[in-house]
Amino acid sequence: MPVTAVIGAQFGDEGKGKILDYLTANADFVVRYQGGPNAGHTVVPHEKPVVMHQLPTGILREGCTAISGPGMVLSPGDLLNEIQQLKSQGEFRGRLLISERAHVILPLHRVQDAWEEEVRGAMRTGTTGRGIGPAYMDRVGRFGLRMADLQRPELIHQKLELLYTAKKHMTGTTQELPPKEELAAQLVEEGKALAPYLCSTEPILWEAAREGQHILLEGAQSALLDIDYGTYPFVTSSHPTAAGALVGSGLPPQELDSVIGIVKAYSTRVGSGPFPTEALGPEGERLRERGAERGATTGRPRRCGWFDLVLTRYAARLNGFTSLAMTKVDILGGEPEVPICIGYELPNGEQAEDYPPVLAEDLERVTPRWRTFPGWAEFTPTLMRRLHEEGWRALPRELKRYLSFVGEEVGAPVTLVSYGPRREDTVEIPVGGLEPASALEEWRST
Ligand code: GDP
Repeated sequence: MPVTAVIGAQFGDEGKGKILDYLTANADFVVRYQGGPNAGHTVVPHEKPVVMHQLPTGILREGCTAISGPGMVLSPGDLLNEIQQLKSQGEFRGRLLISERAHVILPLHRVQDAWEEEVRGAMRTGTTGRGIGPAYMDRVGRFGLRMADLQRPELIHQKLELLYTAKKHMTGTTQELPPKEELAAQLVEEGKALAPYLCSTEPILWEAAREGQHILLEGAQSALLDIDYGTYPFVTSSHPTAAGALVGSGLPPQELDSVIGIVKAYSTRVGSGPFPTEALGPEGERLRERGAERGATTGRPRRCGWFDLVLTRYAARLNGFTSLAMTKVDILGGEPEVPICIGYELPNGEQAEDYPPVLAEDLERVTPRWRTFPGWAEFTPTLMRRLHEEGWRALPRELKRYLSFVGEEVGAPVTLVSYGPRREDTVEIPVGGLEPASALEEWRST
């Protein structure tokens, strides 16, 4: 499909980087459409892991054009470091373009991030502290600097003046901020270093879409962290959803051909916010250890739990998933049973199946209803070898049933399954390839 949006369907860390890296084999363009250095996709193109923060995964493929798109907020210094790092690892293989419309994250946004979390106290959103939220606030507030400004020193000075006045008004002081002149000089230098990559990226994409070239739209965060449709206020400050992929890339809606939802075989969440299927105690700890669930950007331990059909059905409706990719099925290999949340009971006794409560405070108080599936075999070297040789048919029978059930319940078939971090640990399932879940042995309900 020429234009495909690849959307995290849960709270993030589903393994979007891994699936994107697999899909880039057939992509001419990969566009990151939201977020900034708060993302940390871990990709293992060969043997060594590479962590992508502000660069799209397409940069790892020769012949692919990777675009840091208009919907992003970018930290120029960190971006230069990331480029340098990838070059030194020999992984900077594609062509990089950076949108002139992307907004700039400044050191003062980080100061503001810390200040805001302090003000929020118990209502902390658990940000990564990298100034992403405040940079998006300045974008909406029309105080922001864009990458295009970095090419014009006189505009940098003028806009910083305004920004510092606004910050003083907000926080009562600018004492903690770096001196304005120093920052302006630094931005001029960074602007010079980034100049070879900067351009207006939309016309290039319009042309590519018209020619039927393959374009992947890459999200950084995930649907349930969308500023409007996620678990507000425990959300990110942009739109990781499919609609956001269009706004953040500049492509018109009718160009979008397919939307792949990425789900992990279980669920995780970093930071605060409601997580109805969270497994507390030793069960959660086991998932965390087995899945090495720690943030790629911050190293923070992730909260772990089971697959949530209510939230995934909701994400599917919101994004129009045409298919699903499920990752980390190997992590559950050897579990005797795999529970899955099929609905919520709300405190007032009502049931929810595909639309979670709007208020985070209410989502905290739902009681999941579970169905328990028999677990599947461990991913031993023998099974891995068979999967490499025979493809999806070699997947354990119990796992096929789980995949079939999830696809049916979510309303989008699972067509990609990832069973390890490497590119080759992936199988494709043709649509209709899996037997219907109902045709398989009865599951046990709890
Ligand atoms: P993203 O931000 O959604 O790309 O996710 P992260 O990179 O934060 O986390 C995914 C982690 O799981 C990375 O370390 C990946 O290398 C790893 N990973 C991805 N898919 C699989 C899989 O199928 N099995 C295993 N064991 N690890 C995987």
